[in-house]
Amino acid sequence: MMQELFNQAIVLNIKPVDENAALGRFLLDDGRIIFLKIPGYQNPQSKHRLSLQLNSIVELEYFQNVNFPNSGKLKRATLEKQLVFTLDRQTHIIFLLHDLLRNYKKLSPEIYQFYVLLFTNNNENILTLSSILFLFLKLIQFENFFPNFNACANCQTNKNIDSFSLDHGGLLCVKCAKKFQIKSLQVPLLKKIIMLGKITNYPDLSKVYFLPREEIIIKEIFGNYLEITLGINTNQLKNI
Ligand SMILES: [Zn+2]
Repeated sequence: MMQELFNQAIVLNIKPVDENAALGRFLLDDGRIIFLKIPGYQNPQSKHRLSLQLNSIVELEYFQNVNFPNSGKLKRATLEKQLVFTLDRQTHIIFLLHDLLRNYKKLSPEIYQFYVLLFTNNNENILTLSSILFLFLKLIQFENFFPNFNACANCQTNKNIDSFSLDHGGLLCVKCAKKFQIKSLQVPLLKKIIMLGKITNYPDLSKVYFLPREEIIIKEIFGNYLEITLGINTNQLKNI
C-alpha cells in the first residue's frame, strides 16, 4: 500500500538501478531519511534529472510505502534552491557531511533546518569550520553520544574540575587527572569546554567561533563518535 505525501528535502544521493529508473536518497524536512525510486531518471530528457540536483533543496511529491515507511516512489520533484558554495574547502566539507548523513536512518528536523541554513546562505561567513563543528556537536547531541561535560567522568564530583580527556570519558577533577597523568587545562579553556556541552540552541551562526584548542576537542569527540557508532574512518576530519 502506498500513501501520497509532500516534503521538502535535500538530495543526498542518486544511483541508477536499471536502464530506466534510479534510486534517490533524501533527507526530509521532518528529519527522516527516505529512499525513493525515480522512474524514468535514466532518460536524458527526464524532468527529474533537472530538478534533482545533488545537494539541492527540492519539494517532493511521492508515494510512501506504508509497510516500509523509509521507501517509496517519486511522483514529482520541484527544484527549490541550489546549494551555494564556492570554496574548495567548502566542497570538501560538504562531501564529508554527505558521507556522514548517508549513515543515518533518521535525523531531527532541527538538523535539517541547520543544514539548510548553513548551505543555502550567501553569507560566506556562515559556512566556516566553526559552524560545521557546531553542526557536528548537534549531531552528537542528537545521538546522545556525549562525553561528560558536567562532572568528573571518573568520580562524578563537580568540584575542582581540572582537565578534559576523551579517553577517560570527559571532564576530570584534579585528583583523577593526576591519577591518569592528564595535564591540567587553564581555567578559561576549561570554561569554554564546559560550555560546549551546554550548546542547545542556534546562536547567530556568523558569530560561532571556536578556538583552535576547542576545534581539536570537537574533532576528537566527533571522530571518536564516528568510529564507535558508525565505523567511519576519520582521516577525512583531519583535512578540514
Ligand atoms: Zn574525579
